[in-house]
Amino acid sequence: MSDQNLRPPEIAREALRRLASERVPPTPDNYREFYHRIAGTKADDSFPEKPLKAIAASLPRNTPERLRAAQQFEGAIASGQWALLKQVVIELASAGEPPRQAWGQLIAGLLEGFEKRHSGLTLAQKRNALTHVIDSSNGNAERLYARIQALVSSWSAQPEDNNRIETASEIASRTSPADSAGQPVLVAGESNASIAEFLTVIIKRAILPVLVDNDSLRAEAEAIAEAVAARSGDVQQVEELRNRLSRLTDRIEWIEDDRRAVREALLKLLKLVLDNISQLVVDDSWLRGQLLMVSEVFSSPLDIRVLDEAERRLRDVIDKQTQLKQQLTDAQDRLKSMLIGFMDRLSGFSDSTDHYHRTLERCAQEIETADSLDDLADAVGELLTETRDVRESTRQSNEELKALREEVESANHRIIRLQRELDETSELVRHDPLTGVLNRKGIDEAIEREISVMRRRGTPLCIALLDIDNFKQLNDTFGHRTGDEALQHLVSVVRDDLRSEDTVGRYGGEEFIILLPDTNEEQGMEIITRLQRSLTKRFFLADNRRILITFSAGLSRMRPDEDADDTIDRADRAMYAAKRAGKNRVLAAV
Ligand code: GH3
Ligand code: MG
Ligand code: MG
Repeated sequence: MSDQNLRPPEIAREALRRLASERVPPTPDNYREFYHRIAGTKADDSFPEKPLKAIAASLPRNTPERLRAAQQFEGAIASGQWALLKQVVIELASAGEPPRQAWGQLIAGLLEGFEKRHSGLTLAQKRNALTHVIDSSNGNAERLYARIQALVSSWSAQPEDNNRIETASEIASRTSPADSAGQPVLVAGESNASIAEFLTVIIKRAILPVLVDNDSLRAEAEAIAEAVAARSGDVQQVEELRNRLSRLTDRIEWIEDDRRAVREALLKLLKLVLDNISQLVVDDSWLRGQLLMVSEVFSSPLDIRVLDEAERRLRDVIDKQTQLKQQLTDAQDRLKSMLIGFMDRLSGFSDSTDHYHRTLERCAQEIETADSLDDLADAVGELLTETRDVRESTRQSNEELKALREEVESANHRIIRLQRELDETSELVRHDPLTGVLNRKGIDEAIEREISVMRRRGTPLCIALLDIDNFKQLNDTFGHRTGDEALQHLVSVVRDDLRSEDTVGRYGGEEFIILLPDTNEEQGMEIITRLQRSLTKRFFLADNRRILITFSAGLSRMRPDEDADDTIDRADRAMYAAKRAGKNRVLAAV
């Protein structure tokens, strides 16, 4: 009883006519049934376009993904095909949560990214980046997924280093005694298990260390880590864990705020104490030098390298000054005892001249009252002897006094020299007095320190050697003093431009060395090229004349099998190659 050649309006009219003729109540369902019977289609295939369109209109479109989903939904309605609509609805329902399979792949990729060694990317940096991604995703799984995916692909874009470093699972087993005791944490093939493992690692490696001095929060973090590791998969428990974790992170943020405030207050206090001591020791310039150094350290962002450097410098200065102080005290003691000897001699001399005067008087009386020639001869004889003795004693005293005076003078000079040395040691021990940057000795020690950091952390280290172009000409044209000021200008630009962890030293006359820790060759070239640009932007002013200073530089990344001298040699050769190539350029060493 069907007529598939009829058009829909004709089918609709026919359906209404039959409802009336067969006395069937005209309900929507009955109408639909008659309609399909006439059209030869199934009642199930009916397509409620209008209500579906109404649903489509109320679908959210506030993100690109949602807009795309709503458009697919509309497309499926327009096609009038249930199968397509069904597929779109399934996709819509699972949107917002990546498929389980994709999470598995992502975690595998993440593990691989962790285990691979990328040049210019430390394990700590990767860990920090991951923690940041997790924190900034605010528990939004979709966002977290996209961000981790972006992170992993940014790692894989980095060049690889061949030497393997410890793997994430090694770190996990090292930091988690429960795991090494055989507790099952990772179930192969289950993506949630991988997430649970990561969460456990993050709690143990990133959260617990922050809570060393907060027992209750530490206990809570440990409890959460255990609950995550032993996850039951129960939705309610997951929700509860999420809430506990969120409360914990809130508390940690407060603790961090407090710590920051305490650190700032302590620094302020320290600065106040330093300022006050400086006011008190106006005359003790060597002590002022030490205080100045400590103040400088605390005025820049605190960094373990800076503190380490300050400690070494301070210790060295204190040793040197203690030595000088002792020598100074010894010299002063000697001077004192010499002066005492001098006074003794003087009083001895005046004693003997007193005696001579008394003898003179007595002899004069004897001569006056002499009755005989014999008496007279005795008195004159005594007078001659006494005069000879006095002359001899005066000659001796004169010689002794002259020697003593020379000794006192030399002791005095020594004291003045020691005092000056003492004043200068604060500045001179490891620093170049003209520019204030490290001198050769200082830079040698800094290189040693950076090499040990490089080996311990497995991070790259670059060394750059800079030589000012045509410096002799600048000296000849403008004078040596302007040359000195140009060196100071260069150092001030370098200091402003470099990162706090970089170190600059004066290697020779107009040659400087720059240490760039945690820097690969490409980054090193960028840093030195940027410095070159900064120097051309910041003119050097001498007597209100603008003078352009340029430098040529060579940069080498330290190789695992070479020592510092080899690395510097390579940088030096690259620097000379830069000179030969026309100056004012940076070349990477080969
Ligand atoms: P190039 O571009 O090839 O490096 O040429 P240059 O003139 O810079 O190099 P050269 O080695 O011929 O001259 C370096 C000059 O640097 C010679 C020296 O007098 C000067 N110099 C070294 N130390 C100081 C210093 O402390 N103060 C001043 N004013 N000049 C210095
Ligand atoms: Mg030179
Ligand atoms: Mg030069």
